[in-house]
Amino acid sequence: MATRGRTRPSRPLEGKTVITCAVTGAETTREQCPTLPITPEEIAAAAREARLAGAAILHLHVRDAGGAPTQDVETFRATMDLVRDACDIVIEVTTGGAVGMTLEERTQPLALDPEMASLDCGTVNFGDDYIVNTLPEVRRCARQMKERGIRPTLECFDLSHVDTAAMLVEEGLVEPPLHYGIVLGVPGGVRCDAGTLEFFAARLPAGSRWTAIGAGGRASAIALRTALELGGFVRVGFEDNVYLDKGVRAPSNAELVRRAAWEARERGLEPATPDEVREDLRLRP
Ligand code: ZN
Repeated sequence: MATRGRTRPSRPLEGKTVITCAVTGAETTREQCPTLPITPEEIAAAAREARLAGAAILHLHVRDAGGAPTQDVETFRATMDLVRDACDIVIEVTTGGAVGMTLEERTQPLALDPEMASLDCGTVNFGDDYIVNTLPEVRRCARQMKERGIRPTLECFDLSHVDTAAMLVEEGLVEPPLHYGIVLGVPGGVRCDAGTLEFFAARLPAGSRWTAIGAGGRASAIALRTALELGGFVRVGFEDNVYLDKGVRAPSNAELVRRAAWEARERGLEPATPDEVREDLRLRP
């Protein structure tokens, strides 16, 4: 059991890692990040740059004309069309949406049959707000993804969420290959340090793929390096962190991807291509 969750010995994508880029998110503002991509055109351009820098998956949120987060299906459709025209990156839509949205609102982009989508596996404090995902809601969301053949990223902000994900697997609502997103460093959630991330990873079923997500500059750096050491995948981008170094704003999402790719190559790992991810995670053609 010692190697449970530590995918190094039989890691998928041997010698590779997978970089996801979360280019926009729901919370980041232009005040915090003057180059934040907001319009569908800007998001597609950012996705292409991120892809060229080594990202294989785009974690996608969209905004309305005023820059506020929206789960509007037409905005997602327009953005996804532009992204697909711009590059071959795998699209993972958010079903987390933004604080205060209903599940019905949040799951609208699933109607567009993206290859992947995030699936929040429980409730968590989120700064001064909170994200609610009751068990019936988590199940409903998982069922929709299963029926549509969308590969979920099982987002776990807490250890209880890992156990909820296991329940979904037992109930047949989620099928392998399993891909987890371990989210640490959210204010009100679990603090990000290497030991905690390792503990979470060790709790995942053998053979699981997992992506480390650190919220904020410090957590993001720890999550990135620890995941690469443990055989996990990594996520960067303005949703999670806008800094390249302490006090130094990243000029673009692509610059954060380039840094992650460099960190991977320093450890002998090559960033996987979107097609390698499609094969590994058995994404719907
Ligand atoms: Zn997100």
